[in-house]
Amino acid sequence: MWDFETDPEYQKVLDWADEFVRDEIEPLDLAFPHQQFMPLEGKRREVIDPLKQEVRRRGLWATHLGAELGGQGYGQLKLALLNEILGRSQWAPIIFGCQAPDTGNAEIIAHYGTEEQKQRYLMPLLNGELFSCYSMTEPHAGADPTMFTTSAVRDGDDWVINGWKFFSSNAATSSFLIVMVVTNPEVSAYQGMSMFLVPTDTPGVKIERNIGLYGEQSGQGSHALIHYDNVRVPADSLLGGEGQAFVIAQTRLGGGRIHHAMRTIGLSRKALDMMCERALSRQTQGSRLSDKQFVQGYIADSYAQLLQFRLMVLYTAWEIDKYNDYKKVRKDIAAVKVVMPTVLHDIAWRAMQVHGALGVTNEVPFLGMVTGAAVMGLADGPTEVHKATVAKQVLRDYTPADGTWPSEWIPAKREAAQAKFADYLEHEVGNL
Ligand SMILES: Cc1cc2nc3c(=O)[nH]c(=O)nc-3n(C[C@H](O)[C@H](O)[C@H](O)COP(=O)(O)OP(=O)(O)OC[C@H]3O[C@@H](n4cnc5c(N)ncnc54)[C@H](O)[C@@H]3O)c2cc1C
Repeated sequence: MWDFETDPEYQKVLDWADEFVRDEIEPLDLAFPHQQFMPLEGKRREVIDPLKQEVRRRGLWATHLGAELGGQGYGQLKLALLNEILGRSQWAPIIFGCQAPDTGNAEIIAHYGTEEQKQRYLMPLLNGELFSCYSMTEPHAGADPTMFTTSAVRDGDDWVINGWKFFSSNAATSSFLIVMVVTNPEVSAYQGMSMFLVPTDTPGVKIERNIGLYGEQSGQGSHALIHYDNVRVPADSLLGGEGQAFVIAQTRLGGGRIHHAMRTIGLSRKALDMMCERALSRQTQGSRLSDKQFVQGYIADSYAQLLQFRLMVLYTAWEIDKYNDYKKVRKDIAAVKVVMPTVLHDIAWRAMQVHGALGVTNEVPFLGMVTGAAVMGLADGPTEVHKATVAKQVLRDYTPADGTWPSEWIPAKREAAQAKFADYLEHEVGNL
């Protein structure tokens, strides 16, 4: 059965969320810009806590985890419909307790953590009391994790971590880091790497520099270059089993990628909304911009691109709910990841163009969106790598042709068709 309708009861919930985000949360993006991942203190806590409380009261807090992992069990499809609303605002995911990278980190601790680790890290994370960081990329290698060299060596009851990590987002304000390291250099990286849960204040965790994205003030960035300098952690800091890092990373990144895509629908829709409003509002050469065919083309292309992308994301979310196994949905998650930067880039770029000079200023959000699109083509793996994944997965369903000619080679098919209908064809000819 195919059905594209939202359950009416849940639609009411979404309508509430939409109004709440526009009226109560979007203003936070302007009043407290870039402060989402800072510890809540003083006046900010007075503003933020009641909003989170309202979300909890409505049963919408931290809806990303399935019931079997201790979450509310909304499933990814319902989360997608909510996340596309939250994607309009920087603060909204925080207020709803489902912000990256904490969602993915929570998911892997829920999957692989011990009871003690869940009490210590997962519960406060899900309660929104602290932030976490995922520390995997290294300065010399990102897209190819088999090149990572940061290592952990067993020393009695402890492990000692040494090496460098790059672009560890939110490390500076996090309470703990999930670090991917080599624990057995003798075997392949797929068996020889492990994950550790490391409190950020552990001696030897040295944040050398917080790197900012383009447009951010120097020194105010949130992507850390970290030196793990003889960081000693007890053996029970290991997340999952020794050598399980790749399996855990796939779980984490699968969820993380699709959640980004859900939010990207919301951001792209914001750009389309702005483009349409501007096209109807602005006059030039005797008519409105919306009467110009070029602008109509921008709107039509943007609408179609967004609709395609949204259906793709919702379908993939539905698949995740159906199979409850990221491996089975790997191809479509990777395809979504490939498409995502282009959709946001194209729509934001057209919206920017339609706004004229105003479009490139810091009084409208378009250049931030374009930078965001570039980031999406890199964070959680570059587009090229995901394209390769899609292609490999697609090719699994095919086999080489027998012999020289393609199986759809028309002369051979024609000959077969003529043989199949030989009696009828002779009869037809005979009647002429
Ligand atoms: C905003 C942001 C936040 C991030 N947050 C985190 C985080 O919290 N934790 C973390 O660990 N990392 C994080 N990253 C890092 C991110 O995962 C890496 O940037 C990404 O995996 C690519 O690695 P790299 O930058 O080293 O690029 P490289 O691996 O050097 O690749 C550079 C380019 O080479 C090309 N390329 C690479 N591999 C292939 C291939 N197989 N085929 C064809 N072309 C290829 C692509 O064009 C690619 O962009 C973040 C990145 C950004 C931009």
